[in-house]
Amino acid sequence: MTNDPTPPPSSRAVLVTGGSRGIGRAIARAFAARGDRVAVHWGESRDRAEAVLAELPGSGHVLVQADLTDAGAVAAMVDSAADALGGLDVLVNNAGVFTASPPLSSSYERWQEVWARTLAVNLVGAANATFRAVPHLRAAGGGAVMNVSSRGAFRGEPDNPAYGASKAGLNAFAQSMAVALAPLGISVSCVAPGFVQTEMAREVLDGPGGAAVRAQSPFGRVARPEEVASAVLWLASPEARFSTGTIVDVNGASYLRS
Ligand code: NAP
Repeated sequence: MTNDPTPPPSSRAVLVTGGSRGIGRAIARAFAARGDRVAVHWGESRDRAEAVLAELPGSGHVLVQADLTDAGAVAAMVDSAADALGGLDVLVNNAGVFTASPPLSSSYERWQEVWARTLAVNLVGAANATFRAVPHLRAAGGGAVMNVSSRGAFRGEPDNPAYGASKAGLNAFAQSMAVALAPLGISVSCVAPGFVQTEMAREVLDGPGGAAVRAQSPFGRVARPEEVASAVLWLASPEARFSTGTIVDVNGASYLRS
């Protein structure tokens, strides 16, 4: 009897939008740690994206840039990621913006500006990236599209209704695409974190309301980016293919939906 060495896991080509920091950085690290090749997308944080690239384990990783509000730039970015990685197996729509715009204290101009930008990045940017990724995923014989949504889609975002609406839209988009793309062997799912320890949440977590936010979970804390990344990693795996269309909560039981 021979002791066959365990074959190395096959390396997938993975594009992570908003990989330059926060949750995207943790997602890029999680895929790289299992042997995948990662395209780390950035919008404005070039230095930080370079630092993420330098710290990724393994090899074959690249940087790609695009402002996700620019449809042409998104198309070129997805194609260049697939070119540089030698194909595409997984797209992670992670990039997002949160800009407070309370309905009772915003000017109409501010309200318009926040709605336009929030939907452009969080929803239309993800939809465009997905559209452009499909031919590459199809050429690879299937794959996965993961979307980083939010608890706010279900619980409400009173200080930023555009954000809640963008994430509810992202969930609906993902579920529609799960049905549309299943015949191609492509799964489409979401993770919906509550508060996560990143720059996006820093002002709230470090402010006077931080303790109350942590107390929303019976664990008495918010999520670490790595906890969101591990859910994405599993959902993107072939083992999770039949869970397509799922929205996985990563909120420490701070909000239980039926
Ligand atoms: P973050 O630290 O603020 O990072 C946001 C990322 O999105 C950055 O990499 C940024 O890239 C990218 N981005 C933003 N606007 C862009 C644009 N117009 N074009 C290209 N890239 C753009 O946020 P995070 O906390 O990691 O959030 C990641 C995802 O998780 C988002 O979708 C967010 O809505 C979601 N989420 C976060 C929390 C939380 O509490 N943190 C909770 C629930 C869901 P550059 O810096 O390179 O421009």
